[in-house]
Amino acid sequence: MTDAGPAPVPFQEFVLKVHSRCNLACDYCYVYEMADQSWARRPRVMSAEVVRRTGERIAEHLRDHGVTEASVVLHGGEPLLAGARRLEHVVTELRRLAGAGTALSFVVQTNGTLLDQDMLEVFRRHDVRVGVSLDGDRAATDRHRRRPDGASSYPATVRALDLLSGPRYRSLFAGLLATVDLRTDPVRAYEALLEFDPPVVDFLLPHGTWTDPPPGRSADPASTPYADWLIAVFERWYAAPRRETGVRILEEILVLLLGGASRVESVGLSPAAFVVVETDGEIELVDTLKAAYPGAAATGLTVHSDRFDAALAHPAVRAGQRGVAGLPGACRACPAHQVCGGGLYPHRFRAGRGFDNPSVYCADLYRLIGHLARRVAGAPGPPPAGPPDPATERTVPGPAAA
Ligand code: SF4
Repeated sequence: MTDAGPAPVPFQEFVLKVHSRCNLACDYCYVYEMADQSWARRPRVMSAEVVRRTGERIAEHLRDHGVTEASVVLHGGEPLLAGARRLEHVVTELRRLAGAGTALSFVVQTNGTLLDQDMLEVFRRHDVRVGVSLDGDRAATDRHRRRPDGASSYPATVRALDLLSGPRYRSLFAGLLATVDLRTDPVRAYEALLEFDPPVVDFLLPHGTWTDPPPGRSADPASTPYADWLIAVFERWYAAPRRETGVRILEEILVLLLGGASRVESVGLSPAAFVVVETDGEIELVDTLKAAYPGAAATGLTVHSDRFDAALAHPAVRAGQRGVAGLPGACRACPAHQVCGGGLYPHRFRAGRGFDNPSVYCADLYRLIGHLARRVAGAPGPPPAGPPDPATERTVPGPAAA
């Protein structure tokens, strides 16, 4: 069948799984705790050969499409398990293969427990920015982010953040990544993260689908617990006398409401332009698809034999690049779709119907967007719970039923 959509947008973000295991056992992790268990058959570490092949494929892809800037995310598992020297090799090898005319920026996404001065010196030398996962204060973090023996990971992450936010390494601090837990007080979580003076906080919704819904997300569209949680953060953040930090999801929605384009996959209709390479060189789709079903992120492609262009033709990549035309029918009929974008693609999954559904977070997204829209317009927000405010129906008439 011919894809009549727009021309593919070349990949500009490459997520490299440099290590496939983790030293923590976070209970919400989509790599180890969800449907897909492909990590178990992969090599622990990305070999020098896979690094070289990946670098050649990235260089080829960027050259073929005339792209001169791209970013590489060093990911895992826990990428720091690969060790400082190996990570240094990945960065220098990929930059060497990309050539002088191409700017590759690097960020490493870590749980922080292995982030020490030696590691940070390597990152400083090669300008590798560092994002750290932490869910709030110790109680919030201990609820999920424990070591395999049950011990807390919090003290080690805090030690790393004290180093990272200090004067020598501050410029490398990319931000904090926190997964929302409805049992955690939202303002308390936000203020606990603020203590590390992050440049940005990224609140992630826990992974889930219509078949396997996120905690506390019922089928009742009048129930919007995740919107209520994020609205509490928004009100604390928005009312601050000065901008204390960025909150990615809120800022992205505000940009979209004002007519701009999103830079994240969770909201908006900007074409998704990233791809994942596993430790064995397999090319995969967005990692969070692993929450849907086994093999959901697989493409059958590998850097050893395939160009990244082959992944651009994958139906899920095409759907993520087709804007409104790539949305489920129910979302296309929703006036919030330009801002919402149907939410994160994996959150649309329902067994037997695939991804042609609104997000399992539809009601929450609708309410959150409606609240921010009214606050930007200067009107007071709606009460923090309950069904959509009829007064908003002209702009955001309500979420679709899946
Ligand atoms: S129907 Fe729901 S998921 Fe789809 S665009 Fe509207 S609010 Fe978002």
